[in-house]
Amino acid sequence: MMVGVHPLAGFDKLLHYKVPESVSDPIVVGSLVRVPIMNSFHLGIVGEIGAPKNFPLDKLKPIAQVLYPFPALPPDLLELARWMSSYYAAGLDSIIETMLPAAVRNGIGLKQDKYLSVVKRPSPEEYAALEKRAPQQVKLLRFLEQQFRPQKKSLVLARLGLTAAVSSALVKRGLVHEELRRVERIAYDDDVESGELVASQPHVLNAEQAAAVATVTAELAREKFGVSLLHGITGSGKTEVYLRAIDTALKSGGGVVFLVPEVALTPQTVARLRSRLEAIAPGHRCVVWHSHLSEGERLDGWLALATGEARVVVGARSAIFAPVRNLRLIVVDEEHEPAYKQDETPRYHGRDVAVMRAKLSQAICLLGSATPSLESFANAQAGKYQLIELRQRVDSRKLPHIDIVDLRIEALKQRTMPSLSRKLLDAMHARLERREQTILFINRRGYSSAMLCTKCGHTEECAHCSIAMTYHRADEMLRCHLCGDQKPAPLRCPKCGAPEIRWKGLGTQRVEETVRRMLPKARIERMDTDTMSKKNRFREVLSQFRAGKIDILIGTQMIGKGLDFPNVTLVGLIDADISMHIPDFRANERTFQLLVQVAGRAGRGDRAGEVVVQTFTPQAEAIQFSRHADYGGFAAAELKIRKDFNYPPYRHLIHHLFRGPNPEKLKFFAEQWAKLIEKELGDRVELRGPSASPIEKIKDEYRWQLWYFTNSVTKVVPEIARLRADFAWPDDITQVIDVDPVNLM
Ligand SMILES: [Zn+2]
Ligand SMILES: [Zn+2]
Repeated sequence: MMVGVHPLAGFDKLLHYKVPESVSDPIVVGSLVRVPIMNSFHLGIVGEIGAPKNFPLDKLKPIAQVLYPFPALPPDLLELARWMSSYYAAGLDSIIETMLPAAVRNGIGLKQDKYLSVVKRPSPEEYAALEKRAPQQVKLLRFLEQQFRPQKKSLVLARLGLTAAVSSALVKRGLVHEELRRVERIAYDDDVESGELVASQPHVLNAEQAAAVATVTAELAREKFGVSLLHGITGSGKTEVYLRAIDTALKSGGGVVFLVPEVALTPQTVARLRSRLEAIAPGHRCVVWHSHLSEGERLDGWLALATGEARVVVGARSAIFAPVRNLRLIVVDEEHEPAYKQDETPRYHGRDVAVMRAKLSQAICLLGSATPSLESFANAQAGKYQLIELRQRVDSRKLPHIDIVDLRIEALKQRTMPSLSRKLLDAMHARLERREQTILFINRRGYSSAMLCTKCGHTEECAHCSIAMTYHRADEMLRCHLCGDQKPAPLRCPKCGAPEIRWKGLGTQRVEETVRRMLPKARIERMDTDTMSKKNRFREVLSQFRAGKIDILIGTQMIGKGLDFPNVTLVGLIDADISMHIPDFRANERTFQLLVQVAGRAGRGDRAGEVVVQTFTPQAEAIQFSRHADYGGFAAAELKIRKDFNYPPYRHLIHHLFRGPNPEKLKFFAEQWAKLIEKELGDRVELRGPSASPIEKIKDEYRWQLWYFTNSVTKVVPEIARLRADFAWPDDITQVIDVDPVNLM
């Protein structure tokens, strides 16, 4: 027998081998094997069975080893890897390496331990006799009889205070069975703080939820590929719809992937999901998959899924590659989250890959969000996705009241640049008196890169691209990093003449200082990536907050996602403008999403919530539509702008970054390359640039970039990849291609 193997050896080729007699494990497409290349051994995935005609068979080398007796990449995943390789211009070997956890590739040993279980129950007479002679054996036997599963020997003996001689005696009597079993290292299993377990009982559905469940159930019954977009306002009970859909898929014998953004994978969410999912499918366990797993935990989870022992996985982005068998349903919660995009090679988007995997497996993909990405919403409008809407909050709770504070007026009143408006301070004060809690959000991304006039709210935008221009301090220039247009940075606001256009923004620390000064009695905690470097610290603070030991929590978006704090009745957004004026055509979309998600944090219990949004540009559409969480209104307005500028979702955008130590050389080659693309692909792509990146230099490497707009990624990217491979790049220039980037910074 001959096989073609994709080796994981840093190149992208199919090599052929023969299968020697000594290999007894079955070899199929997707098997993980070890093969000789030159003078060393490499891992590889079997890509095809057989060899080309007229192949010199006698020259073939033999496969050295088959690592698992089942395909490490089931057919749908191998097919997905091929699609990703072509779509994202990444080597197939790098995709396969991303799909297979390191622990699986390294083949680290399976942890085994001795387990005990009862094989035969003695009669009452025998029991009585044994009781007299060996009471300790009876103690162990009675304990084991009460267990449903085999028990770990060392743990049981320690717990009952018995020696190994006792269990050996029972084994000898033929009453107890001792076996070696794989130890399951279950992520977060020992991690749930007591008293924080959330009820795992199914809730009663309201009419809208029931209709949504019925729609998804009908989709599942068709056993064909389909995508549904579940657009439900915050608090409308989307999770319950997901769980019912998962229930249906599991009961029909199918497998399920449930994706959530990494930040939402707190021990509480995991515990709640797992207990519900395991209640749905008794005897099956729910595998948890995220970046903090140990190698052992990851391997165990992977094995459980690959062998069919477990059929459901909940996890962050990379869980989309879990080897779930007979995949029926993929749920992508918070599908609009940019965190689904991987920002290193291969630069894939978890949501888009989920849709493609569902297609290859003829499964259903259920995307859910309170603020769907405009890409998904446009697909729903075009009839490609089925739109399911939840317009009511469960228990008909009210959406919080949103107050917009105009910081321009506040600046005049306070005669200084305010970090906290009077309105927000008063509201915080009232919460303190009523012993309710406050969350203050600060969004720091992309701070001083845009110019914002704090007098009139004006920002400098590119006339051609409708995105904020980037301020380059080094040479005092404003540049558009899409088209490269530039002009000197103004000293005064071009609209109102005020010098306040050089506003630098507010930092978390400064806000914290102000809050401490103004509300000295409040218990305050700050939570951002600087203070939360430790995972445990993050959980500790959340746990204290939930227990009511903190009055005011200040932080970045990381505190917003997937967390329920019933006692939070006030949410303040310190500076809504920051996300609105980042140089990105998605700036408005991000701001709207942020505002709606943040507002959804207030008043989740039985108390009404209040949201205070501070901004220099209260008239902006993202802010006005968010006041009533009017997603439809916002989407219509924003999609019109996207259409006018022919931005995604109407076309695809591809980013090409060039890096090198010599700026002149870099510029020269980027321009030569752009000329080549113009000549070869000019009919299929629109180029912008090349131009210097917004951050021109990182670690002594200069950066240039080029943007491609296109209607069809699949007609363009493979061509770009081919031209790139043939182009005479100097050794000191590296480049990165990012298809459908979510972040233009
Ligand atoms: Zn101005
Ligand atoms: Zn421009």
